[in-house]
Amino acid sequence: MKIECITVWHLDLPLSKPYWLSGGRLKFERLDSTIVRLDTDAGIHGWGEGCPWGSTYLPAFGRGIRAGLEELAPTILGSDPRCLDVLNRKMDVALPGHPYVKAAIDIACWDILGKAADLPVCDLLGGRETGDVLTNSSISTGTPDEMIATVAAARAKGYSVHSCKVGGADIAGDIARIEAVMGSLVSGERITFDVNRAWTPGVAIEVMNAVAGFAPSWFEQPCETMDQCIHVRRNTRQPIMLDECLHSMDDHVRAHGAGACEGVKVKPNRLGGLTKARQVRDFGLSVGWQMHVEDVGGTVLADTAAIHLAHSTPEANRLASWIGHDHLVDDIAPGQGSRNQAGRTAAPDLPGLGVEPDVQALGEPVARYT
Ligand code: MG
Repeated sequence: MKIECITVWHLDLPLSKPYWLSGGRLKFERLDSTIVRLDTDAGIHGWGEGCPWGSTYLPAFGRGIRAGLEELAPTILGSDPRCLDVLNRKMDVALPGHPYVKAAIDIACWDILGKAADLPVCDLLGGRETGDVLTNSSISTGTPDEMIATVAAARAKGYSVHSCKVGGADIAGDIARIEAVMGSLVSGERITFDVNRAWTPGVAIEVMNAVAGFAPSWFEQPCETMDQCIHVRRNTRQPIMLDECLHSMDDHVRAHGAGACEGVKVKPNRLGGLTKARQVRDFGLSVGWQMHVEDVGGTVLADTAAIHLAHSTPEANRLASWIGHDHLVDDIAPGQGSRNQAGRTAAPDLPGLGVEPDVQALGEPVARYT
């Protein structure tokens, strides 16, 4: 089987309301997403998505994906989409680094592989585990009262796991936010405070130790670099989850060797697609990490790809997954894919990813390579 055509769409996706993180340093109102369709000489096609959640969240940006696809197109065309590791090695030779550029292509190839095998992608990623996948809310930074209200609204939608955005130079403000949200939780709810790298190590140690008397909660990516997070790890007690400082398998091996964390976020669009995210997931299983398996952002297409990986991850190692498309105004595949249903979701049973975007909703392609 050979890839004969790459079609690329650019989507400008407004968020249903502005989203603040990293102590208000970073604000998002719309997302730049790239949708890719691969057509093969066997008549099977696959869909993938690249969405880096704006330009300020990761070393990645939407136009970079489309420029990178133009660079990679000669390498991708003529390749067998079912030979995922071979194709990933070829892409890494043709364009070293830039994992976010390759994610949409890799995800579309998994869609094709699933359709060719007549199996859902989660079965090809190791097999569907029992039970649904828990979903978690994402609570934008705000005043303590605003955050309590947002958690309550998420609770009303069925979420029992919350990811609250905190972080900034205002130490007393962060302690107040954390104490207020912790005090508002009901029995059975769990929480992560995601700092999105906003704290210096001294601030992280001060805040985390100040709130250590509350019920257990995770703290995510407290500081910018892995070394800074390792320093925090050695001077605090709460479990730490790493996210933005992890880009390669090397990073994960180093984090484990340094005892930097008890868990990681596994995001196909940060790591370069499902092939590399699966490798990281399996490493995480071998070292006993707990993982949030989800994507960086985007439509139901990116979310569903990540949920296939989540659903093939054992429950003991699988924390909740965020459903990013819940924050969007537009829907490119109504009724399809992995959706939040009262705090839970599942990978579709259909062959491949199980999402067929509405081409009318995508508009005109911005590029086609043959
Ligand atoms: Mg995070």
